Amino acid sequence: MVKAVVGANWGDEGKGKITDMLAEKADIIIRFQGGANAGHTIVNDFGKFALHTLPSGVFYSHTTSIIGNGVALNIPLLFQEIQSVTDRNVPMPKLLVSDRAQIVMPYHILFDQYEEERLGGKSFGSTKSGIAPFYSDKYAKIGFQVSELFEEERLREKVARVVETKNVLLEHLYHKPLIHEEELLEELHGYRDMVAPYVCDVSAYLAQALKEDKTILLEGQLGTLKDPDHGIYPMVTSSSTLAAYGAIGAGLPPYEIKEIYTVCKAYSSAVGAGAFVSEIFGEEAEELRRRGGDGGEYGATTGRPRRMGWFDCVASKYGCRLQGATDVAFTVLDVLGYLDEIPVCVGYEIDGEVTTDFPVTAKLEKAKPVLKTLPGWKSEIRGIKKYEDLPENCRKYVEFIEGQIGYPITMISNGPSRGDIIYRESPLRK
Ligand code: GDP
Repeated sequence: MVKAVVGANWGDEGKGKITDMLAEKADIIIRFQGGANAGHTIVNDFGKFALHTLPSGVFYSHTTSIIGNGVALNIPLLFQEIQSVTDRNVPMPKLLVSDRAQIVMPYHILFDQYEEERLGGKSFGSTKSGIAPFYSDKYAKIGFQVSELFEEERLREKVARVVETKNVLLEHLYHKPLIHEEELLEELHGYRDMVAPYVCDVSAYLAQALKEDKTILLEGQLGTLKDPDHGIYPMVTSSSTLAAYGAIGAGLPPYEIKEIYTVCKAYSSAVGAGAFVSEIFGEEAEELRRRGGDGGEYGATTGRPRRMGWFDCVASKYGCRLQGATDVAFTVLDVLGYLDEIPVCVGYEIDGEVTTDFPVTAKLEKAKPVLKTLPGWKSEIRGIKKYEDLPENCRKYVEFIEGQIGYPITMISNGPSRGDIIYRESPLRK
């Protein structure tokens, strides 16, 4: 049985926590897309961790953690991350790396920086982790698969070929130092030695695991609105953030994905540029940012302050639909306990017309939020374990949002720890 944990919004919804929780009853946790450009924050018995590449199941000794073929794999960062986790008494995770995963090359990171510099004010707000240049090269068919590290002749020949074109850009477009073939090869030999013990034919491994009735968790990064096809293009990430892509990025049959836990945050936050209809500013935003998440809404990878906004029903309904949500995990609800009243975006006004359908980017940029204000509950809800024990206005908030988005909210997260979770029977659950 395969379950996916994915985001309905712009990322940072709390997927790490939900994956860490569901991992307790899983055998295999696999990252299927993205790279070290975003982070998952997890709080458990070992402490508080920000993971960037490792799947959020690494804290259990019964699970196998897999880097799928769809991931942008930064090999030195992966090993630094393993070190940082094992240094804090977490047992060495059982790790497998797909032989078909492609490698973030040192020049991808440089090209990411150079391009953002070149674009100046028109930049994408990239985290400069090399993700966009990496996926460009993957689809331009000049990327390097992990398996290619082990074929010395081919590696040399390909490095020479690729470096030639990269150096033209470095010299004439960016006016930066050139890449030296031998130095690059030496670096790749180092990568080969680091990754060698973990390399695996992952799709074959997963096929066998399915035969043995194992539970596999697919862990997504970012959320629907950052998907390159269905998100706010071009202010998106470079790999698909959708559960459907889990089948490809892990190497599984799509019909095996039975449960799609779509994580949706009780208010909005976003990083990077792009339209953000329910965005708020000034003191109102600052207060929500300061109180948000676990210790404030600042990027787990970059430390950048996140952009803040009210819950957006239009974007979240769309976000859940594209994921194919079977369950919505509604997170960070506890954060809203300070508000007298809570505005929620229930529609977009575009050229004088109100819609609840999420539009394409050109229209989205013209959208103004239609807000409805719900009463707050003005109390601390952390520690509450049963849905009925939540304050009435808090339940009304959940039920109002469930009605707007049209997907069953079956889990409510009321704190950052593993145990801060309330299960709920949803009327939308058939
Ligand atoms: P991810 O990338 O989707 O895993 O999300 P992040 O880890 O970037 O952001 C979620 C932040 O919220 C982290 O700091 C979590 O520890 C925290 N968090 C997750 N769920 C809850 C919750 O229900 N309440 C509070 N207060 N914080 C939460």
